Amino acid sequence: MQYFKKDKDKLTCLLCSYYCKLKPNQTGICGVNKNTGDKIECLVYGHIGAINIDPIEKKPLYHFLPKSKSLSLGTVGCNFKCSFCQNHGMSQEKNINKSKYHSPSDVVSIARKYKCESISYTYNEPTIFYPYAKDIAIEAKKYGIKNVYVSNGFESKEVIDDMIGIIDAVNIDLKCFSKEYYKKNLGGNLEQVLENLKHFKKNGIWLEITTLIVPTKNDSYEELEKIAKFIKEELDIYTPWHLSSFHPDYKDLDLPRTSFETLKMAKDIGSKYGLKYVYIGNVSFENNTLCTKCNEVLIKRNRFEVLSKNLKNDKCPNCNTKVHGVFPKMKTIRKTGFAGSFYPNEKEEILKHIDNFNNKLTVNGDFDVRAMIVPHAGYVYSGFTANIAYNISQYKKPKRIVLIGPSHSMYYKGASIALYDEYETPLGNITIDKNYSNDLKNKYDFISFDDNMHLEHSTETQAPFIKHYFPNTQIVEIVYGKMPYEELSTLVDEVLEDKENLLLISTDLSHFHTQEKANELDNICLNAIAKKDMSLFDKGCEACGKLGVKALIHSAIKKDMNSKVLHYCTSYNKTKDASRVVGYTSALIGY
Ligand code: SF4
Repeated sequence: MQYFKKDKDKLTCLLCSYYCKLKPNQTGICGVNKNTGDKIECLVYGHIGAINIDPIEKKPLYHFLPKSKSLSLGTVGCNFKCSFCQNHGMSQEKNINKSKYHSPSDVVSIARKYKCESISYTYNEPTIFYPYAKDIAIEAKKYGIKNVYVSNGFESKEVIDDMIGIIDAVNIDLKCFSKEYYKKNLGGNLEQVLENLKHFKKNGIWLEITTLIVPTKNDSYEELEKIAKFIKEELDIYTPWHLSSFHPDYKDLDLPRTSFETLKMAKDIGSKYGLKYVYIGNVSFENNTLCTKCNEVLIKRNRFEVLSKNLKNDKCPNCNTKVHGVFPKMKTIRKTGFAGSFYPNEKEEILKHIDNFNNKLTVNGDFDVRAMIVPHAGYVYSGFTANIAYNISQYKKPKRIVLIGPSHSMYYKGASIALYDEYETPLGNITIDKNYSNDLKNKYDFISFDDNMHLEHSTETQAPFIKHYFPNTQIVEIVYGKMPYEELSTLVDEVLEDKENLLLISTDLSHFHTQEKANELDNICLNAIAKKDMSLFDKGCEACGKLGVKALIHSAIKKDMNSKVLHYCTSYNKTKDASRVVGYTSALIGY
């Protein structure tokens, strides 16, 4: 989205519903967005005021990835001026400490390092640093990290619309139900906050609401009743409502703490209006989530601590009723289909194979490897040949391996990409890069996802090697059927372009000829690869994965990459039967 628009000699900021019109050098109400001449600059971009790892329950979000860690950060500044602000040290601070800069990828690296499942934009009002939050959120999405927004609900409509697909959950402060109080003591206006709450709901962003109950300000029965009624009638009864206890702070030091009786009264009001998930916060109190149908205790909590979870995915284990919110789903796994036949089922046995291969091996790794051609027969036949390529390339630390192989078991038009969470191997599962896979699927018309295509040995036989030589990489699996190689080559071009990728093209060579004939035919393929001569592929080269190899060599020619054939053998080496053999090769493409 555009964060500002031109308005005669001024620029209008589009971040929050104040829509400040700023003259050159003027800063908006929030104190951190400034007209610097030809644009409105977010002065806090990259300058974090506080960063912590919090339980997600502390946001508070009780129905969003319960018991997970959320990397929480904020800057300075706010577009409101609440006299009871419990975080005024940051929100009302005017000085921006620019001594440190955290790029979006710096923040995501921290989240990944500490295994946070989400990043929360919180502590001060995130709308005023939305350009920064959004850039972090987009980077986080690449790693499956979700994004949470803890806000006063005074965003612009443009920002709320822009959040779709980027921000996964919000907790909005509905501070009271009095127009005057918003106007005089808080900022913004009640009508806009109520509109925005409906807008978040409509946009499918998971919404929880917090009301800080401040004695004498918003703690009357009537006012709390209005809030409960609004939630029921304009949102829905499954929207969690957190009733938070006030402690004296900022300008409201003379006010008492919220009494437990008042909190309990508010909770009862929520129940009276049929709200299913009402929680008392900031005090030591059991705050359990119950099944809305059978009252089974599903999540047991004390303050921010989850004591136990009793969920079947997102359902009650007792009566199968859905619990509203965002809950971790069971992981989907690309299961092994050929462990125990093409390669051993046991980790130790696979490692023994690899050790044996390497005992007979001397490698020279003077090559910037971008892609490998590898065979896919049983390890006793082609494992040695494949292992050479893996061994030479192990110095690389690719973010992901894109593994492409032909379908042997079913006719398919185009190609299928594996959209599971993990790829099973006897050495441990490999994470599938689902974001990258989805991007490819969305970009290329010939790619779809068909579960049946992923019971395929041409790709699966590579997985144990990948796990062994590249233990931290992610994987993308593409199994192709009938299609023009030129089309696959457009995808190969893209994969080769990204230095964080390592591409694997799986193929065997000729099948079931005599050893002599096989050598003759395979030699044509080897020459086609070594000389990058596309014409040779149609002069007798036989290979089950010829389409993939052609796509790769076609791309290598375009990119002026080199090729190097590493090894060739046939199944004769194992069977000693020269009347009927299969050929295998491994090769490298790169610089
Ligand atoms: S974020 Fe809101 S308060 Fe700040 S300049 Fe923009 S419109 Fe004004």
